[in-house]
Amino acid sequence: MLEQPTAAALVEAFANTVDVEEESDEIATPAGLAAWLHSRGLRDSRTAVPAATHASYLSLRAGIREQLGAHVGDTPNPDHLAAADQVLADHPVLVTSSGSLLATPDLPPDRRPLAQLAIAWNQLTTTGDASRLKRCAEHTCAWVFWDISKNRSRRWCSMKVCGNRNKSRAYAARVRGQEENDPAPN
Ligand SMILES: [Zn+2]
Repeated sequence: MLEQPTAAALVEAFANTVDVEEESDEIATPAGLAAWLHSRGLRDSRTAVPAATHASYLSLRAGIREQLGAHVGDTPNPDHLAAADQVLADHPVLVTSSGSLLATPDLPPDRRPLAQLAIAWNQLTTTGDASRLKRCAEHTCAWVFWDISKNRSRRWCSMKVCGNRNKSRAYAARVRGQEENDPAPN
């Protein structure tokens, strides 16, 4: 049951195209996006996607990442959420008679993967699995991970690294606070 569904793996990979810690972004350029989509089997062509389409991918990713941050208690940026909602609204999916979701057939090929991402996101929110997908609460990391804990309580991608970073910073802040409260030496 805790095995990560394919929809979650896709959304996680998409959200992690940006690496905050390494300051890198695989899909920062239309050419980079084309390469990523091709590598995931989401698009046949390797030619760069049009700039406007590229912007839609970035908006969707930003909104999804904000939503995943909310799953660890961060306050999402409403502008990012609204922009992503717009992308989802612009890429409506069809429900077949068997109940499965399909991309609208008249979508241009460059935009079809957006519909696939929308479908994956839709599946996660419908099943409730979306709440297991989270953005690390350590903001210098902000890596998206799949929480396999029973009570869905994890806040950090890795307790060893990010969890401890967070704790030692909280400790340092407490020590600083105490020093500030100490009377200044004459
Ligand atoms: Zn982390």
